[in-house]
Amino acid sequence: MKTTTADADADLRAHEPDTREHVWSLHVLGTGAASAVDLGSSGAVLERDGVPMLLVDCGPGTLEHYLRNYRTQPSAVFITHGHMDHVAGLERLFHAAWFNPAQRGRIKMFMHANLMPILQARVADYPGAIAEGGANFWEGFWLIPCSRGFWLDGWWFDVFATRHHVPGTSFGVALRGCFAWTGDTRPIPEVLSCVTDDHTLVAHDCALIGNPSHTGVADIEREYPAELRARLLLYHYGSEADAQILRERGFKVAVPDGRYPLHVPQPVRAEAG
Ligand SMILES: [Zn+2]
Repeated sequence: MKTTTADADADLRAHEPDTREHVWSLHVLGTGAASAVDLGSSGAVLERDGVPMLLVDCGPGTLEHYLRNYRTQPSAVFITHGHMDHVAGLERLFHAAWFNPAQRGRIKMFMHANLMPILQARVADYPGAIAEGGANFWEGFWLIPCSRGFWLDGWWFDVFATRHHVPGTSFGVALRGCFAWTGDTRPIPEVLSCVTDDHTLVAHDCALIGNPSHTGVADIEREYPAELRARLLLYHYGSEADAQILRERGFKVAVPDGRYPLHVPQPVRAEAG
């Protein structure tokens, strides 16, 4: 079929970011460490004008929480890493997608390519994705492996390595000038300085006490400059009492189901990738 200049222009526009005035926000669904079940599995939704754009992580209960809020399945998901408190909901999401002809193979599933063998083993390799047969697990999704980042609705999202267990197995996501979600990590000041700016809200793993795979508040105070500490939104803590202590130390701490206003992101062109 012949492609006209008008067709090409329309196609280009469809892939350009919509820079009109929109209200961007980060809806934090859950804020808990793996054992803090009452606070919900850590995960969040990037919203534009209240419409969900990207779900980050899908742990136990995340999909149910999402459906209660938005009455529809997510159209795009980013997975930070393969721990079960971040991916246990993927089997339910697969079933929801597979048995809905309008959704099957249409939910964009972004993850760093390094996670492919891990997620294959953790959630995809169970014999017989459905009892009736005829279903391949990944066929339920539109799987988009990435490395440096990915495009979604014309916006470039940076994907960055975090420090959590084995190197190269855990990743955060950032939309420049808007937000960054670290996923599980130790402090990564050198990374965050590359993917955030003065306007970026940085949602960061933080408990009262750090350990070899998670950040503690003393780590935050030691590793990050005041300018960055002021932009942090802490999550992945152990209890509401812990959250209160973090607040008393001067930090903004996310609450389950909290919505946080974001700065309008700056369009980034392809060379950023
Ligand atoms: Zn983890």
